[in-house]
Amino acid sequence: MPFSSLGFSPELLPLLQRALQEKGYAAPTPIQAQAIPVILQGGDLLACAQTGSGKTAAFALPLLQQFTQASPAPPRRVRSLVLVPTRELAAQVGDTFTRFARHLAPRIKVAVLSGGVSINPQMIDLRWGADIVVATPGRLLDLVDNNALSLAHVGTLVLDEADRLLDLGFEEELRRILALLPVQRQTLLFSATFPPAIETLAGTLLHDPRRIEVQAQSVSAPDIQQRAIEVDPGQRTQLLKHLLLQEGWNRALVFVATKHAAEVVAEKLAKGGIPAEALHGELSQGRRTRVLREFKQEQEHVRVLVATDLAARGIDIAQLPVVVNYDLPRSTNDYTHRIGRTGRAGESGIAISFVSAATQAHFRLIEKRERLRVPRERIAGFEPVEILPANAADPAATGGVKGTRPSRKDKLRAAAALGEASPGSPDSH
Ligand code: AMP
Repeated sequence: MPFSSLGFSPELLPLLQRALQEKGYAAPTPIQAQAIPVILQGGDLLACAQTGSGKTAAFALPLLQQFTQASPAPPRRVRSLVLVPTRELAAQVGDTFTRFARHLAPRIKVAVLSGGVSINPQMIDLRWGADIVVATPGRLLDLVDNNALSLAHVGTLVLDEADRLLDLGFEEELRRILALLPVQRQTLLFSATFPPAIETLAGTLLHDPRRIEVQAQSVSAPDIQQRAIEVDPGQRTQLLKHLLLQEGWNRALVFVATKHAAEVVAEKLAKGGIPAEALHGELSQGRRTRVLREFKQEQEHVRVLVATDLAARGIDIAQLPVVVNYDLPRSTNDYTHRIGRTGRAGESGIAISFVSAATQAHFRLIEKRERLRVPRERIAGFEPVEILPANAADPAATGGVKGTRPSRKDKLRAAAALGEASPGSPDSH
């Protein structure tokens, strides 16, 4: 099905086609094919879609149509509001809107409002109004409290990664923001998962929504080869260096459990001649943005990005060949999000997890919940020698898989198999 048959207006379609061509989008993804007609008709939407499915364009493209239908030179007031959980996602979604709106006239103003940077430039920028606002909830409320913008004319509200918004504790902010919006509006809710809290939120927010679900398998993880390599914790940095050199990956995203580990591993790689940078929440927003941008731009001094789960969600890095779980993620959800950073937009990718004697049971729980079985590999020269300590512990007690409670059988099995170290512990580097 081509983009031209989704219901875009004849004024908008040729302008969008140019932008789509520039982006290299030949045909809509399944979520776009299903969501765009609903949004163009003004209906509410409840969409279950992972990042990687093309969900950003699924709401960004139809939201632009209202601006071609507006009366000439309308005052700049916020008509579309997109709430996102993180600054990184805000920047990315804002960028998508700007690119698609490039050929539209009159020009559409997209404001990206997120914390971590000074509020003043954002306040100055908003003096001339904005048509579309992409924001994290806390900063948006700060700006509203400062009378920098009004939400009284919002016609469409998008909650992007709604499950993550709730996970990060934005419930109170959401409640306050919703009270500022017109009751008559279109609401679009995108979420990767549907825990009861999201169902409740959807129940209160949406009117007679169309429910759309795209299979995660078919789009978000199109071609990701998953590998698990057994290695002792103390050997992981050496193994990582070995793999980076041997396998010829031009870039890699490496996930660790702590800010400290991110710094230490990046430094050790850099000392070993592999250009690497750390990315974690303790860096200034300016630094985070710069490091991520340079990594995305394939700049030579950031071939490897060593990151905490901050970089696991939403971030879109084109042509990233490999993701490495240096430390295993704590939750199955985090595993899915981490590995989804590679194999984006139809490319293939590799996801490697380092597994030690102490984290075997934890990885087995992830495999079980993900319904997959990843064969264990060993790399010559890095074969593990550590065995389990006798006082093996319960994974739940040591920070095991979050979210779903382990069954009694899981606990017994894990108790028999798991060592002291928690999967997320910043063990030796
Ligand atoms: P998202 O799920 O919005 O984070 O998008 C994931 C990736 O898919 C991004 O790199 C988009 O640029 C890309 N993408 C989105 N829609 C299409 C499309 N119709 N054709 C090709 N790539 C797309």
